Amino acid sequence: MTDSAVVNETDVVIVGGGLSGLSAALMLKETGTKFVLLEGKDRLGGRAHSMRSPFGIVDAGAEYIGTLQRTVWHYAQRLGVELFRTEIPSAMGWQFQGADGKVRTFLPGDFPDAQQTMLALGEVDELALLVRPYADRPEDLPDFLKQLDQITIADWTPRSGPLSAATRDAFYASLRAVLSIEPSEASFLFLLHYAATAGGYSSLIDASGSGVGPEDYRFVGGTASLVDAFAAAVGAESIKLGDAVVRIESMPTFAQVTTAAGVVYRAKKVIAALGPWAFRESHKPGIELCFEFDAADAEAGRRACTQRQALCDGMHHGMSLKSFVRFRRPFWRDRNLQGRSLCASSASQPIAWTIDNSSDPSAAPAEEQVHSLLAFMAGDAAHVLLDASVADRKAAVLAQLVALFGEVARDECLDYFDQPMPGPAGVLAKGVLSTVGSALRRPVGRVHWASSESALDWAGYMDGAIQAGLRAATEVL
Ligand SMILES: Cc1cc2nc3c(=O)[nH]c(=O)nc-3n(C[C@H](O)[C@H](O)[C@H](O)COP(=O)(O)OP(=O)(O)OC[C@H]3O[C@@H](n4cnc5c(N)ncnc54)[C@H](O)[C@@H]3O)c2cc1C
Repeated sequence: MTDSAVVNETDVVIVGGGLSGLSAALMLKETGTKFVLLEGKDRLGGRAHSMRSPFGIVDAGAEYIGTLQRTVWHYAQRLGVELFRTEIPSAMGWQFQGADGKVRTFLPGDFPDAQQTMLALGEVDELALLVRPYADRPEDLPDFLKQLDQITIADWTPRSGPLSAATRDAFYASLRAVLSIEPSEASFLFLLHYAATAGGYSSLIDASGSGVGPEDYRFVGGTASLVDAFAAAVGAESIKLGDAVVRIESMPTFAQVTTAAGVVYRAKKVIAALGPWAFRESHKPGIELCFEFDAADAEAGRRACTQRQALCDGMHHGMSLKSFVRFRRPFWRDRNLQGRSLCASSASQPIAWTIDNSSDPSAAPAEEQVHSLLAFMAGDAAHVLLDASVADRKAAVLAQLVALFGEVARDECLDYFDQPMPGPAGVLAKGVLSTVGSALRRPVGRVHWASSESALDWAGYMDGAIQAGLRAATEVL
């Protein structure tokens, strides 16, 4: 800080205007705490990012919620944000495309190589249940579970023996759908922890359409409706956009935050509401973190700093590409198909999953309805496609939709829109969670950590993001 810099005084500085930062801000406002929220981009919402496409608003980032995600559900109701049901007719089939390109249709609840897939899913769910009590203190996990931090998801073999090709393809496809990563990119223990926060891996992939699945509801007007409602409740006077934070300092008696434009905020506490990986990436070369401690706290403080640094270094995110394809009519329903599919993706068949993304049937007359499919690319396939032109991406997506639904997909296509995004949530490499996992939440000095990655329920989802913001806000009150 230069001597001439103006120092703005407040009680709490929130860094990051995603749902985590916004929910923290709302709680601080409601408790009469002075705060400012600093968002580096010129928009709020972070990974909840609604965009205008040629055929209306689409959600490039977060989109769906389910009734088991009680916190986001509660805030949607409280803030008056309307929801509508995703089209998942339970009497219609879903499709699975194997690595060989062959497409098979299943009824909801049925899987490729059903018996073995159920066995494998059951084992992941059982292990996740064992991990769940340690979600807040993974360093205390018993050794037999800690060992699962030494292998990647790809290394895992269930007790029943090696996975059959169909089960493995379906499991890896679901992983790309859930986390946008390749199976070799994250620790198996991390996956169990992530799933445990949602009640099990089966909860993450529940596509029964019963209402509790994580994709069963959408926001009218996209997730921007939720973000805007939070922002309105927080109040524009406390939110500063478009000036990234470049430095966070925690001193024994105060904390200080500096932006790229050189604006300085001094506060009692800071809430850092951004994924641990974002400290490296958000503003090149990242956010500088400086900590000074009282002599009495110095050793514990330095240890906490080192652990937090190791956690941030050990977390990265996958890559997603959401493609929205508009059709003249929902032709898949004529063939008794939901429009939902799961695919063993590769460079030649890049889609990981599809879902009916049509507009709310009750919102407009039939002739104004938008009929569309969302095709989700993730992991290696998304990286490869990102180097291609939009025209080539459209051609690749349409070719695979033809393989899934027939030539009618090309004939009925009206529009195409896509947007790359980071993966939904940060993932941890081998050996990180079991050694420094509690650094996800443990405050360091005057800095408290939010972001969906730090949530104990539905980590990585909007629900988790809101919970984490509320938790961090209660910590600083
Ligand atoms: C493609 C995709 C699909 C998803 N689908 C779903 C879904 O269907 N349902 C669901 O529940 N969740 C979904 N998610 C996950 C969900 O979006 C996130 O869990 C949630 O939005 C994260 O909120 P957050 O506030 O923790 O972090 P973020 O949304 O990442 O917010 C962090 C904020 O900090 C800001 N920031 C970063 N660096 C700085 C800096 N230096 N200075 C100031 N500000 C900074 C960022 O710009 C950002 O606005 C999806 C995510 C993606 C990417």
